[in-house]
Amino acid sequence: MSQVFDADSDADGEYLYHVVCHDCPTESVSQRASEAEKRLDEHRTSTGHDIEVAQLPNERNT
Ligand SMILES: [Zn+2]
Repeated sequence: MSQVFDADSDADGEYLYHVVCHDCPTESVSQRASEAEKRLDEHRTSTGHDIEVAQLPNERNT
């Protein structure tokens, strides 16, 4: 399991996935939905925090 973002494979580049926690300062941005969901699941499971992921347009793509 890597903590490093990789920019390959299933990233479509069209969206970014912003994972943000409402109960602590944790947040991260991923180019991959699967990565974002994994972070969300891990954080929610380990902390019970109210965390969510938002899909954002990737501004770099325009
Ligand atoms: Zn949290």
